[in-house]
Amino acid sequence: MLSQVVKDELKAIVGEGRYFDNEEDLLLYSYDAFIVQGQPEAALLPVSTEEVSRIMKVASRERIPVTARGAGTNLAGGSVPTRGGIVLVFTKMNRIIEIDKVNRVAVFQPGVINMEFQKELTKRGLYYPPDPGSMAVSTMGGNVAENAGGPRAVKYGVTSDYLLGLEVVLASGEVLRTGGKTLKNVTGYNLTQLFCGSEGTLGLITEITVKLIPLPETKRTLQAVFKNLSDAGRTVARVFEIGILPVALEIVDKVSINVIEDYMHLGLPREAEALLLIEVDGPEAAVAGESGRLTQLCREMGAHEVKVAGTVEENDEIWKARRSAYGAGARLRPTAIAEDCTVPVGNLVAMFQEVTRIAEKYQLLIPVVAHAGDGNLHPLILTDSSDQEEMKRVVKAIDEISRKAVELGGTLTGEHGIGIAKREILPFELGEVAMEITRNIKKTFDPLNILNPDKVVLIV
Ligand SMILES: Cc1cc2nc3c(=O)[nH]c(=O)nc-3n(C[C@H](O)[C@H](O)[C@H](O)COP(=O)(O)OP(=O)(O)OC[C@H]3O[C@@H](n4cnc5c(N)ncnc54)[C@H](O)[C@@H]3O)c2cc1C
Repeated sequence: MLSQVVKDELKAIVGEGRYFDNEEDLLLYSYDAFIVQGQPEAALLPVSTEEVSRIMKVASRERIPVTARGAGTNLAGGSVPTRGGIVLVFTKMNRIIEIDKVNRVAVFQPGVINMEFQKELTKRGLYYPPDPGSMAVSTMGGNVAENAGGPRAVKYGVTSDYLLGLEVVLASGEVLRTGGKTLKNVTGYNLTQLFCGSEGTLGLITEITVKLIPLPETKRTLQAVFKNLSDAGRTVARVFEIGILPVALEIVDKVSINVIEDYMHLGLPREAEALLLIEVDGPEAAVAGESGRLTQLCREMGAHEVKVAGTVEENDEIWKARRSAYGAGARLRPTAIAEDCTVPVGNLVAMFQEVTRIAEKYQLLIPVVAHAGDGNLHPLILTDSSDQEEMKRVVKAIDEISRKAVELGGTLTGEHGIGIAKREILPFELGEVAMEITRNIKKTFDPLNILNPDKVVLIV
């Protein structure tokens, strides 16, 4: 419990309007996009590294748990304050400090929203590709802490591929700087990358430096309809074999097609087993050539309908189906749990078949969309968290999906992180040696276990 004296001390650091400790305000910071909840005792919205450092000095002196929070959109319980304490909300540290065109880098605070950043870059002909589905609201600090990625990862990679440097406030309140503005840097251990994906358990990110690339001249999406899922899966592999590296390569399965169609009435083919969405970008001539070759390939591989977007509006129209998959599913049942298993691309169809089998076995509705080009599947488990009998089946289904992905040579999570959601199953993939190293890293950075305790790895 925070004493009134400590509360007053914390309040004095950030001031009246950026400190909250009444129950109604705190409710806002008690959940994220996963299904667990935990009420903090105080929420603070710092605006500077100095404030964060002063807060951490109090927290380490008093051994108060501190949970970092961006927009709270993570799907693994990462920003839920399971042990009470302080929630540090980074949304007011939202300044773009520098967009440096000469050195092709940008420096900014963690509360900058991904899409706002993208808009500023577009004005200057620059590009930062990582595009999580939550990009309209999620913060760059949250993106770094989760190593977020999106559909464009097939061609351009994920957050870590662009991360050059960080400023981090440690549990002690000390300020650490890693990396810098250079595109190459092999000096010492790569601490920058260690913090990327660390989910607020090793330090608090207060400044981010990323590399930028030129904005592609144009882009085009095509949509292919397949009667047979395995034909769509084989097409994914063939795209690379014919020498095309698409920006995005997505599959929408039959259950999802019907769930989306019920909601959006886009005229999607309900009888199809799979929709393939392929986006290419680059100079106009190259894009025209590649979309022509992809159309021909999809037809040869069994697609009975191929639509190529001719305009920006048509491009957006094609993406509408994929983008509405989560919302369309979520409206069907009170609870939607977005799974995130990832397998080598060659095992994509096998993993789809496993999810169908598991859904039947546990009598659950599980539509699946996938970033097929990088083997990242999102089975969306539609359920009701108040139905205890059904939740037992859900837990078993998630466990089986996760184990199957690892058995197929894949990983527990491609984007969403471990948080609380996958903490118990983490040793299944990592093994005891890696778990011991993981625990030791946590203890080195956070000896008092005050930074987002209970997440990723449990320290006892
Ligand atoms: C509809 C929807 C679609 C999504 N699509 C994608 C997707 O395509 N790809 C993807 O990767 N994810 C996706 N996500 C998950 C989520 O949006 C991402 O993980 C995102 O990066 C979280 O950002 P946030 O600002 O909401 O962070 P939060 O959820 O607030 O926090 C995420 C984690 O980062 C930590 N953290 C936050 N800020 C800091 C900081 N400054 N310093 C240290 N730690 C910090 C938190 O403690 C927490 O552990 C989606 C979520 C939703 C709801």
